[in-house]
Amino acid sequence: MITIKNLVKTYGTGTKATTALSGIDLEIAKGEIFGIIGHSGAGKSTLIRCINMLERPTSGEILIGKTDMTRLGKNQLQQQRRRIGMIFQHFNLLSSATVYENIAFPLRLVRTPKAEVDRKVNEMLELVGLAEHAKKHPAQLSGGQKQRVGIARALATDPDVLLCDEATSALDPQTTDSILRLLLDINRKLGLTIVLITHEMHVIQSICDKVAVIQGGVIVEEGPVIDVFLKP
Ligand code: ADP
Ligand code: ADP
Repeated sequence: MITIKNLVKTYGTGTKATTALSGIDLEIAKGEIFGIIGHSGAGKSTLIRCINMLERPTSGEILIGKTDMTRLGKNQLQQQRRRIGMIFQHFNLLSSATVYENIAFPLRLVRTPKAEVDRKVNEMLELVGLAEHAKKHPAQLSGGQKQRVGIARALATDPDVLLCDEATSALDPQTTDSILRLLLDINRKLGLTIVLITHEMHVIQSICDKVAVIQGGVIVEEGPVIDVFLKP
C-alpha cells in the first residue's frame, strides 16, 4: 500500500541545514496498523508529513499503491491526497463551524452534491458515535469528542490511508483508550490502512500490528510489535 524508498529530508541549506530523515525505507501493507515510535526530534512528524507531501522530500520515493507522490504535479497531487486522511494532536477543527460542517468541509471542497454530503456526514457521525452532537461547536465538546470529529472529517472522503500525528497525545489515558478502540474498530470494519506516530509505547502495544523505531532520522528497528517489544 505504502512503499518508502531511501527517503531523505533536509531542512535549510549550508551550515544551517538539519537532516531530519536520512535514508528511510518502509513497506506498509494494506489494512495494517503501522506505528512509528521515537523520541522528540527523531523525525516522526517529518516522516508522516512527507507521506502526504505536506513536506517535500529532498530525495527518495513515496509510493501510495503504484503512484510515486514525489513525482506528481500540483493538480495530480491534490487528486492523490484525497486517498489520504489525517488527524492531529490538537484536532485542527474549525472553531466557528458546527460538528456537521467540520465533517462536511472536505466534501464541500471537492464540490460534492448536497444530498451526498448529507448522507456521508450522517454516516460518519454514526461511525464515530456523535450523531447527537452534530449541531454543537468544537468548544462544547470534550477532547475525545473533538478527536472523533477529526476522525469523521478525515474519513468523509473515503481515503485508503489514515495518518495519525500524535492523535492521542493531548488526551487523558481513558479517552486515549476509547479513541484507540475506535481506530481499531474502523480498521477492522473498513480495512483502512492506518499509520500512526507516537512517543508512547502504550499506543503501539494496544493497537499496532507492526512498528518501526526511529532515532535521529533513521529506522533502527522494525517488525511485528511482538517481535520488536516483547522479546524475552
Ligand atoms: P519528531 O516529530 O520526532 O519530534 P520532527 O520531524 O519534528 O521530529 O523533527 C526532526 C528534526 O527536524 C529535528 O531536528 C527538528 O528540529 C528538525 N525540523 C523539523 N521541522 C523543521 C523545520 N520546519 N525547519 C527546520 N528544522 C526542522
Ligand atoms: P470523552 O472524551 O468524553 O471521554 P469518548 O471519546 O469516550 O468521550 O466518547 C465520545 C462520544 O462517543 C460519546 O458521546 C460516547 O457516548 C460515544 N462513544 C464512546 N465510545 C463509543 C463506541 N465504541 N461506539 C460508539 N459511540 C461511542
